[in-house]
Amino acid sequence: MHTVFLGLSTNLGDKLQNLNSALTKLSEFAEIIDLSSIYLTEPVGFKDQDDFLNAVVKIQTKVSHTDLLERIKLIEKEMGRVKIIKDGPRTIDLDILYYQDLFFDSKNLTIPHPRLHLRNFVLTPLNEIAKEHIHPLLKLSSQQMLQNLENPDKVEFYATFN
Ligand code: ADP
Ligand code: MG
Repeated sequence: MHTVFLGLSTNLGDKLQNLNSALTKLSEFAEIIDLSSIYLTEPVGFKDQDDFLNAVVKIQTKVSHTDLLERIKLIEKEMGRVKIIKDGPRTIDLDILYYQDLFFDSKNLTIPHPRLHLRNFVLTPLNEIAKEHIHPLLKLSSQQMLQNLENPDKVEFYATFN
């Protein structure tokens, strides 16, 4: 079994429902070990769009890292994600943040996620469930990466999963 942290992000339609649907679909091939709270976050990059809900989930799965990418892309597709604008609106965005302590870099997949240490909307929920977890490349804990953010994007507590 492999321990994986995934980032979830949504800003279109029924956002809470989107997060829950994504978790249901993930649970078909992964055991959900832990869930962060849900955070309301302002868009980063392309600003003229609705606020996002973000969360991080810790899973255990037998699925390999490359297969996991295919599976999460399939979930995004099934949930109707259509990419029109870079950093633009999405029904659901699933990102592999960590996969065990693996480093991996290919055209389609980089692990750890190359921008996780720059994003308050990832680090805040990650810190909630993996405070001590060390980024295998940067050798920093979630808490340290959070403290290192120079211009943190706005993130506020929204709800917990029920
Ligand atoms: P973003 O997540 O930055 O908003 P996308 O979800 O559109 O952007 O991702 C674009 C591509 O990033 C995906 O098609 C995927 O192949 C690639 N990618 C690279 N590394 C990862 C990762 N760790 N997790 C998820 N996708 C990744
Ligand atoms: Mg993504």
